[in-house]
Amino acid sequence: MLALVRAVPDYPVAGVTFRDITGLLADGVAFGHVVAELARAAQGWGGIDLVAGMEARGFLLGAPIATSLGVGFLPLRKAGKLPPPTESVSYDLEYGTAALELRSGTLPVGARVLVVDDVLATGGTAAAGVDLVERSGGVVVGLAFLMELADLGGRARLAGREVATLLHVE
Ligand code: 5GP
Repeated sequence: MLALVRAVPDYPVAGVTFRDITGLLADGVAFGHVVAELARAAQGWGGIDLVAGMEARGFLLGAPIATSLGVGFLPLRKAGKLPPPTESVSYDLEYGTAALELRSGTLPVGARVLVVDDVLATGGTAAAGVDLVERSGGVVVGLAFLMELADLGGRARLAGREVATLLHVE
């Protein structure tokens, strides 16, 4: 399945190898397998009430995982995309900061949430997603990713949490 993920050297900046998952998404068998496997891993963590996915590729995986689990989906959006009122969490990027936002009132207090994204790299985005869900009253049951870029240390940032990843590169 890793063969369906294209490694793009020096993108978006020199020295970075970007993992392009669009070829995998375009393969119906592989896409279905990814959704089924991540949903199965999450089912092992006990009851899940909602899936939250980070904009934008977390939507592509999180929404079908939610329907496969028979639960709803919460988009965690980039700053300024949702009408108010919103809950917001800022986090650091290599250069500057970013924010994730959730529409206030969409997350029932105590709801058990699975957080989904395509790639776990440094873990900054995932940690912000966890923070946003928890500040909004949810309980993060675990996190699921298609791919882990192991050298970037994201798993350490999520230490103590349930984490499922299907593909690993250094
Ligand atoms: P982190 O915050 O863990 O450093 O980066 C993960 C976030 O950046 C995810 O939302 C992911 O979509 C995006 N990202 C970082 N590197 C890559 C990559 O090589 N390929 C893809 N598809 N997304 C990436």
